Amino acid sequence: MKVGDVSGLGNGAVGGAVSSETKEPSALGDVHARLTQIEGLVDSLSGAEASALLADVTAIAAEVDCLRLLLVSRIESSHIWQAAPNGTANSWLRANHGLDHRGAESDLRAARALLAHQQLRAALESGQISRAHVDVIASVGEANETRRMHLDAFMEVFINIARNSPASVLRTVMRAWADQIDPLTTARDEFHAHRRRFLHVNQLADGVSIEGFFDHEQGAKVIAALNGALSKAWQSDPAAPAGDRRGETECEPATVSTAQQRADAFIAGIIDPALCGGQLPSSGGSRPSVSVVVPLSRLEQPCGTAAVPQWLLADIARNSAGDSESDVIGGQSLVDGTAQLGVSNGPGQQLISDVAAQRMTCDCEIHRIVIDPAGLPIDVGRTMRTFPPHLRKALNLRDKGCVFPGCGKPPGWAQAHHILHWAQGGRTSLENAALLCSKHHHQVHAEDHTVEIGPDGRARVLVRHVLMRQ
Ligand SMILES: [Zn+2]
Ligand SMILES: [Zn+2]
Repeated sequence: MKVGDVSGLGNGAVGGAVSSETKEPSALGDVHARLTQIEGLVDSLSGAEASALLADVTAIAAEVDCLRLLLVSRIESSHIWQAAPNGTANSWLRANHGLDHRGAESDLRAARALLAHQQLRAALESGQISRAHVDVIASVGEANETRRMHLDAFMEVFINIARNSPASVLRTVMRAWADQIDPLTTARDEFHAHRRRFLHVNQLADGVSIEGFFDHEQGAKVIAALNGALSKAWQSDPAAPAGDRRGETECEPATVSTAQQRADAFIAGIIDPALCGGQLPSSGGSRPSVSVVVPLSRLEQPCGTAAVPQWLLADIARNSAGDSESDVIGGQSLVDGTAQLGVSNGPGQQLISDVAAQRMTCDCEIHRIVIDPAGLPIDVGRTMRTFPPHLRKALNLRDKGCVFPGCGKPPGWAQAHHILHWAQGGRTSLENAALLCSKHHHQVHAEDHTVEIGPDGRARVLVRHVLMRQ
């Protein structure tokens, strides 16, 4: 763009395609100036004036959308694109108008549809339907010769639906239409969707991210399973009275978002039962499982006590004084001495905090493995359950669910918590146990809330900020 050229919008709209050839100001120069002028007034408008102007702007935007597609159509019919690197209208639009392949294709398809169907163009131009509606009609209705042959006869019906419904509804109706006049293509579309299936599971620095795509059939199973897990998770949640903030603490708001509920339900209702139920195929002689590897010393001290690794400082001092026999500073020992989380059938270990290690070992199966200084196992103890089934049953009966104030998730969704961790001398007994749901078990460990046996004999949590307020 030339310095001092004020017709930015027009120049952008005409694009780099012809900018080197034309020095003429854009045809839209006036419009751009007018829009800039109105933008300057926005803050001074009353609500009613803003609302009236919004209606006008929306109508003009529809006209601009329409004009834009007519220009795309003209570019295609002018054959100017033969000069583009790949010699297609799509590549011309990509090279000169900042579109990606999919965007250019969608513009070209919509432009052709407007040209072929006058009613469609009139409906878009007058703002009765949106560009999204045109995209649906163009992509579903013009997908092949068979549909194109029948589209005109149904156009009035589709435009009518578009006038009164969002694009998603129009897509469903047109999909049903296509299924009847063109069943083989819709079956092929389904197959294409099936071929696009994927599930990415990425281990990131601070967690694991999951992203996926499934065809409708697989997706329905996912939704059915998730909904089942969700309803189980929340069915016995007592409806908290409005304004009840008992579950709220410093780091954790009382309310849980829908996405968080879905994540919890996925783990507690689908993943945990799969791992614990013994249904998953074993590999290398062991069932899939999650392990926490932690030196006993890390569990023996209460969490939250910072400890500077003195032995490492001493090692550094010795090394810099030149009297160390080894010139390797104990970095690996530092890593080995930290709690690690791993899976029995997947990639390596992730470092986790002592807080997480203590929480996860509250209620689990323990294999005690003694290793020699070189890291080789020299003794393997028998597997122990921290809470044996009879004790867990009694705890379920006593606490009846998560004991965090305002929660009450059922025992099936709760974990057994050692009030004083077993590695710190706490007994595995009813007097030293409390039921907590996953969220509140996290919270109790991370925020260091006090858990005790209340006067009614049940465990209770004294939330720290409540104590501070009193
Ligand atoms: Zn715990
Ligand atoms: Zn809870």
